[in-house]
Amino acid sequence: MTAKLVVGNWKMNGSLASNRKLVKGMLEDRRINRPGVALASPYVYLLQLADLLQLSPMDLGAQDVSQFGRDGAFTGEVSASMLANVGCRYVLIGHSERRQYLAEANEVLSKKMENALAARLAPVLCVGETLAQREAGEHLDVIRHQLDIVADFPSEQVIVAYEPVWAIGTGKVASLAQIAEMHECIKATGLQRQSGSASMRVLYGGSVKADNAEAILSISSVDGALVGGASLDVDSFGMICQAA
Ligand code: PGA
Repeated sequence: MTAKLVVGNWKMNGSLASNRKLVKGMLEDRRINRPGVALASPYVYLLQLADLLQLSPMDLGAQDVSQFGRDGAFTGEVSASMLANVGCRYVLIGHSERRQYLAEANEVLSKKMENALAARLAPVLCVGETLAQREAGEHLDVIRHQLDIVADFPSEQVIVAYEPVWAIGTGKVASLAQIAEMHECIKATGLQRQSGSASMRVLYGGSVKADNAEAILSISSVDGALVGGASLDVDSFGMICQAA
């Protein structure tokens, strides 16, 4: 069994000074400074983190990647090959905040997945339903639609993060039964549609904190966690990494 993966999603937070302090704390913490833990910072800080993590087994990730597959006249974009070039191993794709505020949908996300894989990055495709969709009983259909794009890629190359939108940054966590149901649905959908015999790795995200990490990460279909707010605090992140 592969060890569980913990990815810290810093979102649009940080500064040179605060990153240095935060990463120094993480490097001194043996629960965090180990393989199977990754930090996804804003683009502008990736090089700083690559430098700070140089001697660490922790991995680096980006929070997005360009839909354009070759370098060139795409002002403001950052390509998958650039992310690989500065040392990224992972890249988040289709985070619900980007789906919501930047209207990212399957067509664009599929290109991002393709570009990430071509640059040998591990894409973490984020999926999740809104509260209205769950209350209308549409959550399984919504997730299956968001997973349409995984059919194009072999299962062992794709990581999915299930993040119910109503649980992100709200302090509300999906129940253990809801998490298990969704993770099993995601794995089954992948097995039906993808090539490859292993099921995809599926991380849970949405208000993962020190006090709920152990219960969530002990679910067998949960292969790790995508952690937002709590990844900005050494002790909280340390407890989560320890539970993984
Ligand atoms: P949260 O964010 O842990 O702050 O809820 C998770 C995410 O958006 O990846």
